[in-house]
Amino acid sequence: MDCLFCKIIEGSIPADVVYEDDHVLAFKDINPISPLHVLFVPKVHFVDLSDSYEKEEELLYVFKAIRNYVAEENLNDKGYRLVINAGELGQQTVAHLHVHLISGRQLSWPAG
Ligand code: 5GP
Ligand code: ZN
Repeated sequence: MDCLFCKIIEGSIPADVVYEDDHVLAFKDINPISPLHVLFVPKVHFVDLSDSYEKEEELLYVFKAIRNYVAEENLNDKGYRLVINAGELGQQTVAHLHVHLISGRQLSWPAG
């Protein structure tokens, strides 16, 4: 399958991995928009939430991984933002579901 994030999960494309367990890989975004910008991806390929019905337990693993990483990095006090881009209007550019964890600077809202 020609999927960039599956290749990163397989190890055929390198990434700066910050967290890994049996279900989830997290690595630094190659083009960070904040001092901390990490992508959390399920190791099983699915495109977006609409594609997750038969694999929805993977969503729980992703959010558990984020919760643990956030605690380890002391982000509960500092604050952070989670983002899932989906589809054309949402400007999803990689068709393997991922959650952006963004922190390390004052964020503004609404996002553009
Ligand atoms: P999306 O726009 O699909 O929500 O997010 C995809 C993200 O993947 C972008 O923030 C982009 O910078 C990041 N990205 C694209 N290619 C690579 C890559 O080869 N390695 C890493 N670490 N991140 C990538
Ligand atoms: Zn994939």
